[in-house]
Amino acid sequence: MLGLNNQGTVMNMEMNRSVCMICERECTEGIHILSQFICTDCEQDICRTNVDDDLYDYFVARLRALWGEMVRLDTERSNGSTLS
Ligand SMILES: [Zn+2]
Repeated sequence: MLGLNNQGTVMNMEMNRSVCMICERECTEGIHILSQFICTDCEQDICRTNVDDDLYDYFVARLRALWGEMVRLDTERSNGSTLS
């Protein structure tokens, strides 16, 4: 029997949740890259996806924002390098 209504504090326990930039779900397990977060599931999906896979384009599109951020940081630091 779940008595969540009687124990509101249970719902207030803040886990360290982040929204995955790929699947946009809130997850606790995953990796943080710069300001972005990728959950464990998506990270593994990306690792398993081949370049000629349809999903690859999806991931690339999703990750583009992250790459943009990396490139910007890289440019600020070392002034030029082409990651795109
Ligand atoms: Zn995800």
